[in-house]
This record gives sequence, structure tokens and C-alpha cells, in this order.
Amino acid sequence: MALSLPDLPYAKDALEPYVSAKTLEFHHDKHHNAYVQNANKMLEGTDLANADLETIVKKTYGDQSKTGLFNNAAQVWNHTFLWNSMKPNGGGMPTGEIAGMIERDFGNYQKFVEEFKNAGATQFGSGWAWLVLKDGKLQVTKTPNADTPIAHGEKPLLTVDVWEHAYYLDYQNRRPDYLTTFVEKLINWDFVNQNLKK
Ligand code: MN
Repeated sequence: MALSLPDLPYAKDALEPYVSAKTLEFHHDKHHNAYVQNANKMLEGTDLANADLETIVKKTYGDQSKTGLFNNAAQVWNHTFLWNSMKPNGGGMPTGEIAGMIERDFGNYQKFVEEFKNAGATQFGSGWAWLVLKDGKLQVTKTPNADTPIAHGEKPLLTVDVWEHAYYLDYQNRRPDYLTTFVEKLINWDFVNQNLKK
């Protein structure tokens, strides 16, 4: 059961002008696809060849002999999660259950925005910023490279990719502008609420 590249949940130009069709074409069809292909090559003939993606990520985490497989499999998982973390006409104030939880755990929405943008902006080099649920409480975290909350017993609710390939064509070196746009125009709060129920 090889891993496969999931379709984007919207058209390539659906997030314009905030994320261009060109960025999604490279990011999904080239980068995400390369992680799928690489992971499948490394899985061939191993005892994880028939495992599901989450199991592969959790079982290879911290295993020095399987770093390459972890990196590629975790990136497959992270990117699928990323596509769903965005939607056309998204962003702005949270709705549903998450709205009250943000008030409870951050004090207010602005404080969450500040922490989330700061996590993305201060992740040195490549990585991810996250909103996760840990021990029943919301937390903003960041992970380097392919690292992912599912390897750390946290429940991911939302992510933003801060690898340069995620924003460079549209924002060049202006990662903070990309993060502001992500928060104001792209966050899929429906997806966040669905993740809370899992
Ligand atoms: Mn990426």
C-alpha cells in the first residue's frame, strides 16, 4: 500500500492573490509529490511498507537509521494537513468551538495571532508553526524541517509552512507579510474545529 499524493482541496488559483497558482503548482505537484515518491522508495521491502502514514511517521521518529524515511513521510503528512489549513475566503476571527477555546487559553484572539505569527517568523531556517492541543490546552508551537506534532503526542489543529518554497515566489524574503496574510485571509477555521472533534 504505497503512499499517494492527495489532490488539493481547491483549484490551484483558488487562493489567489494571497497564494498564487504558480506557488501551489510547485508546492503541491513538485515538492509534496517528491516527498511521496521518496517515502515510497524508502518504504519498499521494509516492515513498514503496508503501514498507514501516521504509523510510519510515529515509528520512524528518533530512529537514526530511518531519518530519511521520517523526513519524507512527515513532510507528506504535514503538507496534506497544510492544504486543509487554508481555504478561499478564510482567515479572520475564529468561529465555532475554537473561538471560545482561544479566549480561554490565550486571553483573546489578538494574543493568539501574535504568538502564531511570532512562531512562524522566528523559526530559523525551514519548518512549521502550529496550533496544537496538548493536555487539553491550546498551544502555539514551531517545529524545524519535517518535524511534526504527531510525533510528540500533541493534537495538531492548524499549521503554516514557513519553508521558503511555501512563500518565496509570492513574498520573496517577506515571511512576516506571508504570515499576516495567512492569518487574515487563509486560515480554515472549519478544519480546526473538525480536528478538535477527532
Ligand atoms: Mn512545503
